Amino acid sequence: MSRIHLLSPRLANQIAAGEVVERPASVIKELLENSLDAGATRIDIDVEQGGVKLLRVRDDGGGIVEDDLPLALSRHATSKIRDLDDLERVATLGFRGEALASVSSVSRLTLTSRAASADQAWQVETEGRDMAPRVQPAAHPQGTTVEVRDLFFNTPARRKFLRTEKTEFAHLEEVVKRLALSRFDVAFSLRHNGKTIFSLRPANTEQEARRRVATVCGPAFVEQSLQVDSERSGLRLWGWVGLPTFSRSQADLQYFFVNGRMIKDKLVAHAVRQAYRDVLFNGRHPTFVLFMELDPAVVDVNVHPTKHEVRFRDGRMVHDFLFSTLYRALADQRPGDAGAASD
Ligand code: ADP
Ligand code: MG
Repeated sequence: MSRIHLLSPRLANQIAAGEVVERPASVIKELLENSLDAGATRIDIDVEQGGVKLLRVRDDGGGIVEDDLPLALSRHATSKIRDLDDLERVATLGFRGEALASVSSVSRLTLTSRAASADQAWQVETEGRDMAPRVQPAAHPQGTTVEVRDLFFNTPARRKFLRTEKTEFAHLEEVVKRLALSRFDVAFSLRHNGKTIFSLRPANTEQEARRRVATVCGPAFVEQSLQVDSERSGLRLWGWVGLPTFSRSQADLQYFFVNGRMIKDKLVAHAVRQAYRDVLFNGRHPTFVLFMELDPAVVDVNVHPTKHEVRFRDGRMVHDFLFSTLYRALADQRPGDAGAASD
């Protein structure tokens, strides 16, 4: 038997990366969430070869000061929470301080940033190995660019699990779409192999929001959906629900956001399914882009770092509210029923 020894930080990060960083799409999720947490109003994403060769995210957020740059790449280092109280009412998308450490341990990562308060930009580079990266001056406007090259170059076992460029890009694009739907006020652009996939301007009016949903979900969805907006005892639900005639054979056009965070939750899925039950054929899936807003104190979003689950304090009330709002919205689709929802 070998004796017990501590893992090197690099190996510990690579093990952690195994949980958070599965493929280019998971990297882009972390980078975009960081940009949003930094208050970015515009985020430009550049991808090569499905994200395996290159992922670059550039934002105009608050940036990182010179002294913090190496820390940003360290495990359990975060600017977002300090104590248990903060954890309980965390409002940022990230807070674990693991993403950049994990990603940098399995790629060639360059972090360039200029803080709002700084008179110049600084850069750190890592190559999967040095845990004490050196900081150099760089040119960059206020904000941050993270460049991730050659994902899994030093972990061939993980690299083997990557699929084709097309599949990896499809996953990545889906992540960008979700985040673009979660923040209408932020501009997003996505390029793949030098080609613009989409470029979304900030959407501050209802009409612009509609246009963004049409770009992200396809124009047919907005044309063939009903708009809902309902409020009850501190809960608000708004967005678009597809007509039963616009159902799909797969559950692939279903976006549900709780306080701006995309979730996939059993309770939510159940309430939606119930509302559609008598207007959809068996085996068909409803389409929706829905936003629920409620007091952050009555929903726990810290259940799991990558699973999109949440825990509602009063699940039953949330379920009833969702069901009855959607049931009522779909009333006209239900011949012979004037829409009297049974609350
Ligand atoms: P977390 O987001 O959980 O704090 P990360 O590893 O994703 O952990 O990031 C570590 C820290 O680096 C963040 O807390 C933040 O201070 C800083 N950071 C990362 N990305 C950005 C960015 N795009 N703009 C500003 N700061 C950033
Ligand atoms: Mg983060």
